[in-house]
Amino acid sequence: ACDIGQHDFAGILDTIHDEVRRRLGEGRQADYIQALAKVPLDGFGMALVLRDGRVFEVGRARHRFTIQSISKVHTLTLALDAVGDALWERVDREPSGDAFNSLIQLEYEKGIPRNPFMNAGALVVADVVLSSCSDARSRLLAFMRARSGNTAVACDEGVARSEADTGHRNLALAHFIKSYGNLHNPVEDVLDFYYHQCALSMDCVDLARSMQYLAGNGHCSVSGEQVVSGELATRINALMMTAGTYDAAGDFAFYVGLPAKSGVGGGIVAVVPHVLSLCVWYPGLDDKGNSLLGRYALHRFSRMTGLSVF
Ligand code: GLN
Repeated sequence: ACDIGQHDFAGILDTIHDEVRRRLGEGRQADYIQALAKVPLDGFGMALVLRDGRVFEVGRARHRFTIQSISKVHTLTLALDAVGDALWERVDREPSGDAFNSLIQLEYEKGIPRNPFMNAGALVVADVVLSSCSDARSRLLAFMRARSGNTAVACDEGVARSEADTGHRNLALAHFIKSYGNLHNPVEDVLDFYYHQCALSMDCVDLARSMQYLAGNGHCSVSGEQVVSGELATRINALMMTAGTYDAAGDFAFYVGLPAKSGVGGGIVAVVPHVLSLCVWYPGLDDKGNSLLGRYALHRFSRMTGLSVF
């Protein structure tokens, strides 16, 4: 662990906020999901949670948005808890170099997705969670509420429905994986759970807290529970570093140097192992589907604090 006392986090967040404020409006919403296409590009939020529970926040850190693919970290945790290393017989652990919703490698790799964070991999993970308990939605919701310490965390049903309406890609991915026998539940059930997890509505503080267990060797400082082993937390962080931001993971390692997971709702959560977790939100995305100003903010944060893991 490093001496976190040396950092003026409040000042650093203020500086970043001043810088991004001038750039509001840049990027594009995830317009393939109609409900997200309408979100205005006039707000930015950022929150940081230290291991001792102290919170630093700036801008719209209490504005709720749908967490989208950030949820893939939490479902991965539930799946690993349920089946352990057997998960890796059904999902690989390699970076993809392809877009988050790409189908291209699935045929060569016979229905085994490259990693749990691409949509293909997340669908298999969702399938594992569905098989492991009688009510996957409630299980995930309870997990998220406990990790964030917020009992108001809930699914935005409108966004879930909107995504299902135009979810042709995910439907195609699920059927394709099913054709290789790598989904055990009906495609409809897997997608229903997947859209539900993506449409969970949370703010930057909730999300930063929800990943405290990855900043604390598996120990969640919010609930006081040991969620996963320290070894597993390390491994989930490794997967976020190599695949959490899809085909921008190389650039993220280069500029930010922190395990991170993005979502097309504009959120990005990052972890400084043993030190803190943080979340940024801005709904204008870059061409890889990562929050444009969120990415800039994390780059600046890493530069100003020197907290890159490298
Ligand atoms: N729900 C989104 C989708 O399946 C999640 C993608 C993302 O956040 N990158 O397309």
